Amino acid sequence: MENKEKSAAAALKEKLFAKKENGLKKVGDEKIKEAFDFCEDYKAYLDAAKTEREAVTASIALAEKVGFKPFVPGVKYSAGDKLYINNHAKSAAFMVIGKNKVENGVTLSAAHIDSPRLDLKPNPLYEDIELALFKTHYYGGIRKYQWTAVPLALHGVFVKKDGSVINVNIGEDQNDPVFVVNDLLPHLAAEQSKRTLSEGIKGEELNILIGSMPFNDDSESELVKLNILNLLYEKYGVTEEDFLSAELEAVPAFKARDLGLDRSMIGSYGHDDRVCAYPALKAILDLDTPKKTAVCILADKEEIGSDGNTGLNSDFLLHIIDDLCRAEGSATTLALRNSCCLSADVNAAVDPTFKDVTESRNAAYLNYGVVITKYTGARGKSGTSDASAEYVGKIRAILDNNKVVWQTGELGKVDAGGGGTVAKYIANLGLDVVDLGVPVLSMHAPFETVAKLDVYMAYKAIIAFHNEA
Ligand code: MN
Ligand code: MN
Repeated sequence: MENKEKSAAAALKEKLFAKKENGLKKVGDEKIKEAFDFCEDYKAYLDAAKTEREAVTASIALAEKVGFKPFVPGVKYSAGDKLYINNHAKSAAFMVIGKNKVENGVTLSAAHIDSPRLDLKPNPLYEDIELALFKTHYYGGIRKYQWTAVPLALHGVFVKKDGSVINVNIGEDQNDPVFVVNDLLPHLAAEQSKRTLSEGIKGEELNILIGSMPFNDDSESELVKLNILNLLYEKYGVTEEDFLSAELEAVPAFKARDLGLDRSMIGSYGHDDRVCAYPALKAILDLDTPKKTAVCILADKEEIGSDGNTGLNSDFLLHIIDDLCRAEGSATTLALRNSCCLSADVNAAVDPTFKDVTESRNAAYLNYGVVITKYTGARGKSGTSDASAEYVGKIRAILDNNKVVWQTGELGKVDAGGGGTVAKYIANLGLDVVDLGVPVLSMHAPFETVAKLDVYMAYKAIIAFHNEA
């Protein structure tokens, strides 16, 4: 039946009910194209920045291209100056000096550039039944069974006693060899299959196969290991002892790919949290001179609790604000109190196959836009900074005024589990903070899924925040 006049109930509903709608149904073709184009550059960033070190290098290279310069403490900067800080090669900060003094507050976006992976142990190399392997210690919260029978690449550095740094990157080029953690065949897995899923593969079973060819036919033992060491010596000039001062990370060897026949999604290793780091970086690189000084921190160590001098549970952020304040002769405490932050990190998207771990009214969905997560934590909001209503109200208005497609999210059903972000460490310094990020399927798996529209909306949200917060 055709009905030109809306019923009273329909009109009232439109006025009073919260609207929740798939962003792809409302943004129009032009915005969708913008999102897809934005994600082409994002995929390139994913492939160039699989580790925190590579993310620092790639991010600084992008920043330098648009005029960012190393920050020098003590120098008095003026509005519009674009600066960066390389923090021990594993985290970085990017700043655009605003028109107002820093004591009036900065707008901060903070994302992390470390992702779950397999780190080599300090004495990793061994030979067993004439095969050479690496012992690993997993980094971050992985589901260990997902990391077997997946092609792995090796990224990282050896640091020799003379201080020289040797970069390692094997397995990314089409012609490179790759590595693998092997698993049992189903035919002989009767005992293993009785283990619980979390014990299906144990930590000490995450051993990476790296070679099988003996050095030559003489009678020494451990000739396969010797041959591997010889290859490493020829290529990098390193010996077994150099593994002691190395950081070598095994990550999935595949590249970021469009996902779905409609190409609306991206499958990749390390979306958590490059899917927020890249939009946050891009937002600050694209900023004109803002009113408030804008800062973007790309942090390390989030996946293991943010401890360490490259994590956000350090004084790194405090020192940045302090340096900025000193240069203009103002008080750091005042600047911190007046500053605000988007903690840019992912949230779990509802999975159609595993809906029961989320609560449908408060969970995030693919293509519904960037997610505001008021609180994370576990067991009754323990371990979260829980953003204030006032601050969420302010962010909400900025997002709506700038036509950002956004939704709210919670990390799973009450008591289903939980997790945290860097938000609480930043909040402890006195800033207003809320989590904002992209919904992810298969979070922490070797191949994670995000939707392109949500990635683009993260960028739109963060740039609007720097301009208006
Ligand atoms: Mn994260
Ligand atoms: Mn994570």
